[in-house]
Amino acid sequence: MSLTHFFETDLANLRGMTPARLTMLQTELGLFTYADLIQYFPFRYEDRTIVHSIAEISDQMEHAQFIGRIRYKEKIGNGARQRIVAECCDASGCIELVWFQGIKWLEKSLVSGQDYLFYGKPTNFNGQLQMTHPEMEVYKGVQHAEKNFQPIYPLTEKLRKKYIDSKVIAGLQKNLLSTAFPYIRETLPADIIQQFKLISKQEALYHIHLPQSENWLRQARRRLKFEELFYNQLRLIKQNLVRKETFPGQVFASAALLTSFYQEHMPFDLTEAQKKVIREIFQDMRSGKQMNRLLQGDVGSGKTIVGFISMLLAIDNGAQACIMAPTEILADQHYQGLKKFADLLGITIAKLTGSVKKKDRVGIHEGLESGELNILVGTHAIFEDVVQFKNLGLCIIDEQHRFGVAQRAKLWDKNKVTHPHVLVMTATPIPRTLAMTLYGDLDVSIIDELPVGRKPIQTTHRFDSHRLQVFAFIQSELDKGRQVYIVYPLIEESEKMDFKDLMDGYESISRAFPEVPLGILHGKMKPADKDIEMARFVKHETKIMVATTVIEVGVNVPNASIMIIESAERFGLSQLHQLRGRVGRGAEQSYCILMTGYKLGVDTKKRIETMVRTNNGFEIAEVDLQLRGPGDISGTRQSGAIDLMIADLATDGEILKVARETAMAILESDPHLALDKHLMIREQVMHQRKETTNWARIS
Ligand code: ADP
Ligand code: MG
Repeated sequence: MSLTHFFETDLANLRGMTPARLTMLQTELGLFTYADLIQYFPFRYEDRTIVHSIAEISDQMEHAQFIGRIRYKEKIGNGARQRIVAECCDASGCIELVWFQGIKWLEKSLVSGQDYLFYGKPTNFNGQLQMTHPEMEVYKGVQHAEKNFQPIYPLTEKLRKKYIDSKVIAGLQKNLLSTAFPYIRETLPADIIQQFKLISKQEALYHIHLPQSENWLRQARRRLKFEELFYNQLRLIKQNLVRKETFPGQVFASAALLTSFYQEHMPFDLTEAQKKVIREIFQDMRSGKQMNRLLQGDVGSGKTIVGFISMLLAIDNGAQACIMAPTEILADQHYQGLKKFADLLGITIAKLTGSVKKKDRVGIHEGLESGELNILVGTHAIFEDVVQFKNLGLCIIDEQHRFGVAQRAKLWDKNKVTHPHVLVMTATPIPRTLAMTLYGDLDVSIIDELPVGRKPIQTTHRFDSHRLQVFAFIQSELDKGRQVYIVYPLIEESEKMDFKDLMDGYESISRAFPEVPLGILHGKMKPADKDIEMARFVKHETKIMVATTVIEVGVNVPNASIMIIESAERFGLSQLHQLRGRVGRGAEQSYCILMTGYKLGVDTKKRIETMVRTNNGFEIAEVDLQLRGPGDISGTRQSGAIDLMIADLATDGEILKVARETAMAILESDPHLALDKHLMIREQVMHQRKETTNWARIS
């Protein structure tokens, strides 16, 4: 049987497979072939290398394994409380074992006087050491106890109901490995294996399923993680290289307008970090290749001006520019801000959002097509096919790291002759490891410094019962002429309840501050109404803005100095950080107050504590990743860019870094993987591409 054919074998042919098991593996886990099964890795292992004496066992232990003899057993209780209780002892002591299920079976097969090997979680029940529902096997002598690390596979409830547990899967893996071994071929070149002291693919696949020692297990994981991340990075970096080769970019060489803006109208000095990223962007826009760059910078780091200056470079060279924002409010704010500059320079700018009237749209469309309009600010409306430019040179996407490859491609087509340069700006800092995998195909610039003179926001945590003190504090800030945001959660599943919370909050605030003009802003309002409310707040007509997270991104009201977040326990870390970023935009000291109830879980405490401790978005993103894992970081799951089978972006940053550097070095020396010594890598990349396209077709 040929190499590839073996692994394409239908699982039905595997020893130990039954029709029932086969169906479950197919429907529940999507496993069809030998290749699917062998790549279905355990997510943790139980250490069965140690056998404790019963005296050593305490309820502090996660799990314990022991050999014991059943002294006596009895069935007690009725109905749902019916259970089997047994006393089990070794030479050192005794432990009580309890079962609520499988009673009939246990009555027959749990034999007094017999030795068993037990494994489970020890607990303390009224001072009595106990184990409920331990795993058990009849003890067959010394070698039996010399078990190893037992693989635990990710399984579903349905599988467990059909008695397909990790042991069954491990048994199938064992059967598979016993025949598959000679067919497993190496997938990493020898020099890489040598350089990083990796074990072979054969060894790795064997020990990932049936680890013979802790060391083998560690080596197996390291090898497979490295391989996965190496090919992931290789693919992304290659994509970037190929794109640069394939897609030329307009060369923007002259900078007259830009210089005059810089010399005459710049409202402040740029930070060093801003200057650095502008240099990086300019280099791209003059390189002759199409730019695809991600600009990361914390809230308030001054990304807008970087974007504007980049636009000027395009306009300087006879091209047009557009900036796309996720919401109407934000688009409007950009428009207002940029229009001031545009007017000073005598360049034209228009705003295109869903609420722009049809007859106004027509004018905008014409202006874009004739080239009369230099800058277009807008929302997703820009995507529409009727929106055509004379020569779009630069497209900026603001506050949107959720922007997928498909959407980017759609923007490219806004210029059929030469694709526009693309700059994606995000204020949701993402950890280094995530950026490398999610945006491995983009070039990344980072603004890691805030403008000088910005006072760090002071963040505190207050319990709901201290609301009166918080109100008193709000009053004192209002007396100084400041403005306040009060934010309530709005989560889709409980939209009705949230809406009530918001309205109740609004009521109680208007009672507490009868003289103070309030505004309200939530997702159910019409865009026009939202704009009116926001405009009133911007003009200081309202002093307190009661809102849901619709104000999350981008809005800029420098006079607002307090951000109160109600039910802060219901927000994720990055969202809390985004919301906090709405204050601290002016010269005054700003405050963020996180309100919660008394009962907080461990993770919630960690989130709140992190917010209180630091204002650094990158640090916060790192904690967020540790708490939630990469799959839950917003937007990443849909992107599908990180379908990693074994590597964990929260913990494998070091391996990722090395894998990326290795991939980079190879592609730098041999961009097309044409050299003989890269044959294996080339084949592997092609093989993976085939698999992904197959998968795409299926799903
Ligand atoms: P973000 O990166 O969150 O989009 P903005 O671009 O909205 O930040 O900038 C936040 C505020 O800081 C704006 O009022 C902007 O004018 C101001 N700003 C930007 N850069 C500087 C700078 N170098 N010095 C002083 N203020 C700046
Ligand atoms: Mg911004």
